[in-house]
Amino acid sequence: MSAFCDYPWKGRPELFLFAKPGNTNVASQKESISVGIIGGGLAGLAAATALAGKGFRVELFESRSRLGGRAGAFWEPAVGQWIDFGQHVLMGCCRQMLHFCEQTGLDAFLCRYRELCFVEPGGRFYRLKPHPLLPAPLHLGPSFFRLGFLSWRDRLRVVGGLVRLMHESRPLEQMSFGQWLFAQGQTPLAIQRFWTPVLLSTLAEVPERVAFPVAQKVFVEGLLGSRDAYQLLRPSLPWGQLLEESVGQWLADRGVVIHRKRPVRQILAEGQAVRALVLRDGGEKRFDFYIVAVPWRQAAGLVCPVIREAIPQLAQAADWPAGAITTWHVWLDRSITPQAQTAVVGKGIQWVFAGWGETQGGPNTIRSTSPEGSIRSSLSGKSRVRDWPARSAPEKIKGMANHFKLQESSIQSPQEVDQKIHYYQVIVSASHALAPSAIPQTIQDLLAELQEVFPAAQKAQVLAFRQVKMSEAVFSPQPAVESCRPGQKTPLKNLALAGDWTATGWPATMESAVRSGYQAAQVILDQI
Ligand SMILES: Cc1cc2nc3c(=O)[nH]c(=O)nc-3n(C[C@H](O)[C@H](O)[C@H](O)COP(=O)(O)OP(=O)(O)OC[C@H]3O[C@@H](n4cnc5c(N)ncnc54)[C@H](O)[C@@H]3O)c2cc1C
Repeated sequence: MSAFCDYPWKGRPELFLFAKPGNTNVASQKESISVGIIGGGLAGLAAATALAGKGFRVELFESRSRLGGRAGAFWEPAVGQWIDFGQHVLMGCCRQMLHFCEQTGLDAFLCRYRELCFVEPGGRFYRLKPHPLLPAPLHLGPSFFRLGFLSWRDRLRVVGGLVRLMHESRPLEQMSFGQWLFAQGQTPLAIQRFWTPVLLSTLAEVPERVAFPVAQKVFVEGLLGSRDAYQLLRPSLPWGQLLEESVGQWLADRGVVIHRKRPVRQILAEGQAVRALVLRDGGEKRFDFYIVAVPWRQAAGLVCPVIREAIPQLAQAADWPAGAITTWHVWLDRSITPQAQTAVVGKGIQWVFAGWGETQGGPNTIRSTSPEGSIRSSLSGKSRVRDWPARSAPEKIKGMANHFKLQESSIQSPQEVDQKIHYYQVIVSASHALAPSAIPQTIQDLLAELQEVFPAAQKAQVLAFRQVKMSEAVFSPQPAVESCRPGQKTPLKNLALAGDWTATGWPATMESAVRSGYQAAQVILDQI
């Protein structure tokens, strides 16, 4: 038992990865126990971190060449950097994702924003920040009442709505949040300028399609649950790079074998147990336990008919609707805002993130100022140097100068490149549900929207841009979907499910993915 207690959970009650009480022989047992994890997104990675270094023989199979899944990154040759598919932010309420970051050393890269910044057309800024003395849920009240993009009447309506939401205890699983807002007499402007933007950002869905309990969780737990719940966090490097390099290395250091570019073709079962994984080359791999951590639309196609029959939710999940997120990655010739993150009110674009989050500059992390742009990180006492980007300074200057049509001789160092080129991520969440006329379709539309809210953008030149539309970014949390999310424990004794779409009580987020991974690991530990 003591071998299981070394996991540094810091006493958090919701984290519970321990063997069953009374089972004294686990340490010797688990050394011979093998676990196969299918999927190297956050769910699979969280499951692997929970089992790593504890004597299990863990192997993880990922079909792509890099870890991270939807929170992954792509290589942008123009700038010689890994770029996330879309900016991922954490909220202060995402306790288990934060734990995952602490555990793997990623917390050293996280930047926390204690003020949320809003801008409306014309360039007027507003800030949502906590009152220093008031406890949750009152802490945001004074600054909320200064949000001038809502009329006084609407501000009062919203506050009344939030109070009723906190006290709503009727079982409203089948009701959409849009219906609830209508029944509460929320005004069209309050819906358009407050309720909808929050849901678009957090769920990539419009209120009419969101199950009431999911929206209730977002507002009550996510916004008001504790003094820090509403805060945003984002890393100083792309998540995709951190998950592939730092977490991949963390797992490898603890003996986890990671197979990249090795898709599992099928999962075979016999009787009440999984028998083997079939790989693309036709070879079979056998383990004592299996964790399936693939996206919701792929799980059913991966398993044999015996498993599909035993877990009918898998086939249902294949038909769940998806929410799309479109991210414009834009490189401009000047800074258009001093704000690192801004929510845009009343436009098609919803969030603008500038550059990368600044690191907290803790003793573990040094962002080197050397021309190579190395990142030196010290995780778990082991020092490593990573190159980012993996190009020499002259190559970077040449590449960027060529791409951005800058005079190469006018740039002396990569730092100067950074001064001349300003990177923004502009987010349009729920792009599947919004009218095409309401969201930017071309880079010219996008620039016009930026110019409406950031006056400095009027003189800005677009040096480069890339639009990334993820049409299956998240599952849409509609009433019919929420009630049939499968649990991590399955009727097959050696199979657990993970993924942001399994029953975690959370919408499709990094938090849900990590929770599901931890819970899937717990399913295995419970059987030892
Ligand atoms: C653009 C965008 C923006 C987002 N923004 C946020 C945000 O701000 N905050 C937030 O909390 N969440 C955000 N999300 C949601 C978040 O990314 C997901 O909820 C989370 O990453 C899901 O993790 P997962 O492990 O459950 O699934 P995935 O990340 O999809 O991982 C599944 C993995 O399984 C692999 N796989 C599939 N089939 C096989 C196979 N046959 N064999 C082997 N491997 C296989 C896939 O390649 C993938 O790597 C965003 C998502 C997108 C797309």
